[in-house]
Amino acid sequence: MSDCIFCKIVQKEIPADVVFENEKILVFKDINPKAPVHCLVIPKKHIPSLNETKEEDKELLGELMLVARDVAKEMKIDESGYKLSVHTGEGGGQEVFHIHIHILGGWS
Ligand code: AMP
Ligand code: ZN
Repeated sequence: MSDCIFCKIVQKEIPADVVFENEKILVFKDINPKAPVHCLVIPKKHIPSLNETKEEDKELLGELMLVARDVAKEMKIDESGYKLSVHTGEGGGQEVFHIHIHILGGWS
């Protein structure tokens, strides 16, 4: 998707503070953090939102959750606790239409 900001981050066309990357998934810090730790977990494949996921995405969706778990541990918020959120559609507060999981934590 040529006009998708997160696809541009995947393609390294615009910079991001990347904290994890493998062949299918990228995690980077949110540019406008709403918590002391705020990262976004995205698939490299462009899927606009949870609404457009298919049965064939089942494994990828599971991997996104496991990467979120691992990044939370890496960021040392696993024991204090954290929230994961997936905004879906405009009414769900979604602004960037490339599916992503927010990791929010680090409050004292
Ligand atoms: P959502 O409301 O779930 O679509 O959230 C999109 C998130 O992406 C917001 O928290 C933004 O701050 C974040 N965001 C937008 N552009 C960038 C960017 N270039 N780098 C990092 N985070 C971004
Ligand atoms: Zn995209």
